[in-house]
Amino acid sequence: MIDRDRLDQLLAAERTRFVELHPRSAELAAEARPRLLGGVPMAWMTRWPGAFPVVATEADGARVTDADGIEYVDFALGDTGAMGGHARPFITEAVARQAAHGITTMLPSPDAAWVAGDLARRFGLPTWQFALSATDANRFVLRLARHLTGRPKVAVFDWCYHGTVDEALVILGPGGTVVPRPGSLGPQVDPALTTRVVPFNDVEALRAALAAGDVACVLAEPALTNIGIVLPEPGFHDALRAATAETGTLLVIDETHTICTGPGGYTAAHGLEPDFVTIGKPIAGGVPAAGYGMTAAVAAALDEVVYDEGIDVSGIGGTLTGNALSVAAMRAALSNGLRAADFDVAIPLADAWADGAAAAIGAHGLPWTVQRLGCRAEYWFCPPPRDGASAAAAVDPELEAFLHLWSLNRGILLTPFHNMALLSSSHTRADVDRHTEVFAAALAALTA
Ligand code: PMP
Repeated sequence: MIDRDRLDQLLAAERTRFVELHPRSAELAAEARPRLLGGVPMAWMTRWPGAFPVVATEADGARVTDADGIEYVDFALGDTGAMGGHARPFITEAVARQAAHGITTMLPSPDAAWVAGDLARRFGLPTWQFALSATDANRFVLRLARHLTGRPKVAVFDWCYHGTVDEALVILGPGGTVVPRPGSLGPQVDPALTTRVVPFNDVEALRAALAAGDVACVLAEPALTNIGIVLPEPGFHDALRAATAETGTLLVIDETHTICTGPGGYTAAHGLEPDFVTIGKPIAGGVPAAGYGMTAAVAAALDEVVYDEGIDVSGIGGTLTGNALSVAAMRAALSNGLRAADFDVAIPLADAWADGAAAAIGAHGLPWTVQRLGCRAEYWFCPPPRDGASAAAAVDPELEAFLHLWSLNRGILLTPFHNMALLSSSHTRADVDRHTEVFAAALAALTA
């Protein structure tokens, strides 16, 4: 449907325009290049679509401003880290207040039990522990699941992403083999030794993976969001819970992205009953913090572990974990943002974003689709995929680079790894309409 020569020409023109628009970011990128690996503090920042990433000098609400003074409507929101909006006063005030009273002490602060109580209410799991990133929350839970079950393996869904968790950086290879996810470095250990991989929405494959009784836990996003949004088919979660329960396998639901569904994530919205929930990113308004919740049965089984003399070297730790600053930020984010009232604004905006994108796609006769999950929406160059492999097969890096750069050059930020938008209560209908207009213009240019 897309003329590739035209796409090449349009992309080249956008690359030139990007360089012209960003002289100050170019200077800063040149300064950074010899000092930082790849010229960036974190390797994935090289994935932004221009010749260099724009340097952000300010982020406020749903806006980011760069070093050239250009303001963007931000639909990336720090890839969910700033899902509630940037620099919200309730976060900045809580951070300043707590910093003035000590950041980290090795002791619990009074906010910790409040935060656990709030998370318990949201996700329906009574007992919580903290971590500093969703990756760490997942790593800790895998360790606990292995400890509790005495089983060596974990199971994940094909093309999942749960952070830099070695066991989860896998896909299905030829003939049902388990191979490292393309792009993963190393790997530390051959993931075929640690992991079973199952296509999303495939109950039969799931049952087969658990049948031997050697899988400690299934680690799952309730809907895949890291190879595009892939929604569970009706009955899939019931089958997942039944298959794990029947085989004594623990079920871990990673809500780090699917918190976009509502205040208690997909778990609360759809009545899931996992053994553990993990969550990071937005729960402290962008301050590093994460948590994992567990059932009363799991907590009872772990109680003796916590009092063991060796707990400080148990493999579950982090000197700064549970620090007073992170916990104060979690309390502020949970009590003033991420509330039902925030989702009541953000979800209709995401629907409007999706409707706008779908209308533009329809008007240009393209066979593309738009997927929705709460305050998250995403366009696809194919019908909605059923599993990770079909989603991965539909990725079109050049087309994505063009659409992202076209948007960025017109004041719109999209997450570099996805065609995804995240809406917050800081966005407005005018922001959504601006995206629709810019996206429709891109499609007009592509199909002219
Ligand atoms: N879980 C999910 C579902 C994620 O999408 C991510 C990051 N994209 C993580 C965990 C890891 O988060 P972090 O990089 O903040 O540790």
